[in-house]
Amino acid sequence: MTDKKPFEIARETLKQLTTRKLSPTPLNYQRIYNEIAELPNEPAFPADRLRDIALALPTKTPGQQKQRGLLESAINQLNWEGVKNALMAYGGFSPPAPVPSAGIPLVDSVLPAASKPAVAVPLIEEPKISAPALTADFFGQIARLIEYAQPALGHDDERFNEQTQTLVQALRQPDANAVEVKQLLVNYGHRLSFAAEDQAEIKAMLLKLLHLIIENISHLSVDDAWLKGQADALMAVCVPPLSLRQLDEVEQRLKDVIFKQTESKNRVVQAQEEMRQMLATFIERLASMTESTSGFHTQMETSARLIEQAKTIEEIAPVLKEVVSATRHMAQDSRNARDSLQGMKQKVEATEVQIAKLHQELDRVSAQARHDPLTGALNRQGLDEAVNREVSKVRRTEAPLCMALLDIDNFKKLNDTLGHATGDMALTHLAQVTREVMRPQDTLARYGGEEFVILLPDTPLEQGIAAMTRLQRELTKRFFMAGTEKVLITFSAGVAQLVANESGADAIKRADHAMYLAKRAGKNRVLGG
Ligand code: GH3
Ligand code: MG
Ligand code: MG
Repeated sequence: MTDKKPFEIARETLKQLTTRKLSPTPLNYQRIYNEIAELPNEPAFPADRLRDIALALPTKTPGQQKQRGLLESAINQLNWEGVKNALMAYGGFSPPAPVPSAGIPLVDSVLPAASKPAVAVPLIEEPKISAPALTADFFGQIARLIEYAQPALGHDDERFNEQTQTLVQALRQPDANAVEVKQLLVNYGHRLSFAAEDQAEIKAMLLKLLHLIIENISHLSVDDAWLKGQADALMAVCVPPLSLRQLDEVEQRLKDVIFKQTESKNRVVQAQEEMRQMLATFIERLASMTESTSGFHTQMETSARLIEQAKTIEEIAPVLKEVVSATRHMAQDSRNARDSLQGMKQKVEATEVQIAKLHQELDRVSAQARHDPLTGALNRQGLDEAVNREVSKVRRTEAPLCMALLDIDNFKKLNDTLGHATGDMALTHLAQVTREVMRPQDTLARYGGEEFVILLPDTPLEQGIAAMTRLQRELTKRFFMAGTEKVLITFSAGVAQLVANESGADAIKRADHAMYLAKRAGKNRVLGG
């Protein structure tokens, strides 16, 4: 390298341009400058090409827009370092620490801002944090992200586990090499796609198995309408996409079904045992009766023969004595048999009473189940549990929770004109549309006859009102069909957002009051409480 000062090189360059009759373009200037400064002749800055690339970059997010702006300004300034930093930031990587420019030391006075080092470009919004620290932090965040995601991907694939370990370790190295990390990330991403696919498949398979089990339960319970209804409802609930709330509902319903099935199985076993015992006793009695009857017959025949053959009254007397005694025995046996059959009859009646009691008990248990059999929505018991769960979640997370109470308008009239059975179908229709329109994490419960409560977690009041208004609109689009007749169902609703230290029941009360005001204001509207 020459020991000439930059301004001397610059002056000499300009002289040479004139001497050699070269036009004073930046390209010619740079070439001559490098020659005089004895620097390697760097290729020209491909500004146009880079501009094409910049134009092709999508700018969907504000971050992308910002980085593309910085890239364009670096290109305009022919600033390689700036281009590099903007591209790295665009791709989500922190720019490396600014290194002293090893490029051509172009003279400030000749080429203004153009050659200023990259640090002059404000790429990072927090200038106090150094680039290496930012990179280490960024890599640390990726490592944490990978670790958080790991449980969702399972631990069955040994190679994937190793790959994850290696990547996390590389990311946590104090002097992690971005190029190496990038390669590891590419490999990890590739394997991750397989692992995610596996998990999705496992989930689908488990769901299929669950369906099989439920189907089996419903086949086993052909004689029990309640169980069959529950199994059908379970089938309807177990459809993807599954949410935790939905799985919770499946669990509760399965518990109910299993409980009821165990009860009915015990009941059947007990009834069978009693019938078996009674049948055995009956056969025993029948056998002994036949025995004593045929013995009596033989005795009678023998006595009749002896009487026929008797010549004197003395001879007849003992025979008659035996006949009387045998008849007495026979009468006694018959009495015994009658008593025993009487006893059995009483036992049958007692068993019948017991079975009727069991039925009542089972019906009571059914009523205690958490779902309303008509609409499949939660019943009051189920609602209480769901409210407790949601309210304690609010206490933990402080996320807003809305409770909406809706009451169908003029339902009595619908019942009166179309019949109670059609009214029932209208209730089912409303529940069905609600389930489809609301989010999977929302909970629908039948609060009373034609009143429903909807729990809307993570929802502030305004959004809760908007959600109920959307449901109202949807109901005007999806008519309820009573045979061929289109019936428009409308409702009035009140929405209340749970406030600090308020009980779930109190919030529902406020929603109820708002619903009442909605009725008073002319029905078919939603009001906040
Ligand atoms: P409003 O607009 O003021 O709410 O009037 P409404 O007629 O809807 O209200 P009201 O409370 O007077 O009547 C509710 C009716 O809902 C009375 C009852 O017969 C009917 N109902 C309650 N439970 C059921 C049910 O399970 N099936 C059917 N079909 N009807 C029911
Ligand atoms: Mg009502
Ligand atoms: Mg009503």
